[in-house]
Amino acid sequence: MSSSAEYPASNRTWQIIHNARKGGYAVGGFCVYNTEGVLAVIKAAERCRSPAMIQFFPWTMHFQGPEFIRYAADVAHKASVPISVHLDHCLKPEDADQALECAFDSIMVDGSLFDEAESIAYVKSVVDRAKAKGITIEAELGRMEGGEDGLPTIDLETVWTDPEKAAQFVKETGVHFLAPSFGNVHGPYPPGGAEKHWQLDRLEKIHKAVGDETPLVLHGTHPLSDKMVQVAMDHGMVKVNQNRNVRNGYHQYVEENAAKVELTTLQTQGVEIYSQGVERLMVEVFKSAGKA
Ligand SMILES: [Zn+2]
Repeated sequence: MSSSAEYPASNRTWQIIHNARKGGYAVGGFCVYNTEGVLAVIKAAERCRSPAMIQFFPWTMHFQGPEFIRYAADVAHKASVPISVHLDHCLKPEDADQALECAFDSIMVDGSLFDEAESIAYVKSVVDRAKAKGITIEAELGRMEGGEDGLPTIDLETVWTDPEKAAQFVKETGVHFLAPSFGNVHGPYPPGGAEKHWQLDRLEKIHKAVGDETPLVLHGTHPLSDKMVQVAMDHGMVKVNQNRNVRNGYHQYVEENAAKVELTTLQTQGVEIYSQGVERLMVEVFKSAGKA
């Protein structure tokens, strides 16, 4: 990591995402909840020489506390490949206040509970304060429906991202990465899946309107075929969030072995199986393997 660059180019997440954009591959943002998740992402990334992002929800800040974020940042930053630590879906302003004091490299600010003007003010206030901390900011414009483990389910009306408003939003807030709403949902998808519900023409227009300086982030990947992830990458998605997909094997292993083996074996073997799920995506789908 170059430390001589000026903010935001000095930021670890910024470097990881822009290197992926320039290199024509995607970087995985892996949502994790426990130590095994942190270690699995690092193990997979080091084994296949891929950059990666470890993501938490605000739930982790409250349940395990800022000390656990510090631990994750320490082990991630000591890895032999570039790995950053990111906070996903910061819905509440008080969570953003706390997150700015934690060891995050980047924060996703989600103003989807607010109206448009309030959302811009919320995002901008975090962007302005993050600069002094060297933290970069991802924001959602529009509103995706659904929910995932650790997040409240958003049951307000979906708002698709308007391409022209997206460019204006980036300008007004100064946000570094943009998560658009173009028919993607936080799983599960309604019948027909992403194939039916994604508006790729809208995504294309958003990509053109915001330009390469503001890379796009894909949310709503559960479930999603490898092919649709690649379609999204072809339409400008550089960071691809992943949650449950990569740890199905881990859950199955824990379920089958929790009462049978020692906890040390359960954790060691659990991390190994978890990391295989992460690695498969890095190699087969994101094409980020070998890029670090
Ligand atoms: Zn999301």
